[in-house]
Amino acid sequence: MTAPIAIIGTGIAGLSAAQALHAAGQNVELFDKSRGSGGRMASKRSDAGSLDLGAQYFTARDRRFAEVVQQWRDRGWVAEWSPSLYNFSEGRLLPSPDEQIRWVGTPRMSAITRALLGALPVNFACRITEVFRGERHWGLQDAEGLSHGPFSHVIVATPAPQATALLAAAPKLAGAAASVAMEPTWAVAMGFSEPLDTRVEGCFLQDSALEWVARNRSKPGRESSLDTWVLHATNTWSKQHLDLPKETVIEHLHGAFAETIGCAVPAPSFSLAHRWLYARPSQAHQWGALADADLGLYACGDWCLSGRVEGAWLSGQEAARRLLEHL
Ligand code: FAD
Ligand code: NAD
Repeated sequence: MTAPIAIIGTGIAGLSAAQALHAAGQNVELFDKSRGSGGRMASKRSDAGSLDLGAQYFTARDRRFAEVVQQWRDRGWVAEWSPSLYNFSEGRLLPSPDEQIRWVGTPRMSAITRALLGALPVNFACRITEVFRGERHWGLQDAEGLSHGPFSHVIVATPAPQATALLAAAPKLAGAAASVAMEPTWAVAMGFSEPLDTRVEGCFLQDSALEWVARNRSKPGRESSLDTWVLHATNTWSKQHLDLPKETVIEHLHGAFAETIGCAVPAPSFSLAHRWLYARPSQAHQWGALADADLGLYACGDWCLSGRVEGAWLSGQEAARRLLEHL
């Protein structure tokens, strides 16, 4: 039997590649430092129900992605979310409806990667620290000092700053990953025992510490006894307040929320904060994926394309395509 292909990262990019390779009859084995799949599309289970702390929704503009999203919808993994949309600018909160179709995982964002993972072999809570080349095969070393392998190829599907060290065997790829800056985002979730007296279900903001707020409970399938909200700070505010304690971040962003939402905002009965260090690439690229086909080392992720769910999925497809092309 030929050695399997290792995929580091079970976000949407890694799982997109895994699916494409599996469908082509290849064996894959996945690794993730977290306890579950999803990466930046993960959902947090909490006393206030499940909360989408990272990606809020996604759009499908590419034909290939749009087709696959229809299949996900037919299987019940995703549904359309049509929030009552607002925009906050120059101190004014105004309705801002549009025709854009927006998708969410159901009953939570992480449902998508969980379904894509299916029964594929995976090692969770396993942080890979080194990707090394043996005589004929690849091996992985994890943070506990354990070795994994042999593997025929390796796909690195982590954010660029985490990919750089893992790509050291291919200096060109490592250099490209090192050139990508990624911006942080502070996310705060809040739950109110009495529903807030507002029609807002999603709001884009300018001139605020916040860039986005969403009524999490308005998404399809989200069960919660509380009126749950997710707030995202701008990258600039997040960078300036990177090391604030979580309680202070909650206090600041609760204040910014209360200033914009146009109704009374009491103290929440539930709150939490999460810092995404590598939330989005500071610029888009047109790489598709990175490949050293002779070595058998590949990289993919949102940072190779658009910094969105769609870009991450397309990048995973591209890494798989290039790998299969070279078999
Ligand atoms: P990730 O999801 O980051 O997956 C990488 C995986 O690699 C992670 O699971 C991580 O644990 C794992 N990993 C990292 N290092 C190692 C290691 N050394 N060993 C093992 N595993 C490792 N996109 C949209 O389209 N719409 C939105 O509304 C939207 N909102 C967003 C809001 C926020 C706050 C954030 C953070 C992102 C948002 N995005 C949004 C972007 C979207 O979430 C990402 O583009 C997409 O999920 C990236 O997928 P990925 O697979 O490339 O990376
Ligand atoms: P999209 O088309 O809904 O939004 C793209 C951008 O257009 C928005 O950011 C907003 O500025 C503007 N916009 C869209 N509809 C609007 C409306 N009705 N009223 C006012 N402004 C409107 O979705 P997309 O192109 O798939 O982008 C994904 C979303 O994910 C974006 O909002 C982006 O900011 C967000 N994102 C956030 C992070 C993070 O770190 N916080 C990372 C990646 C992506």
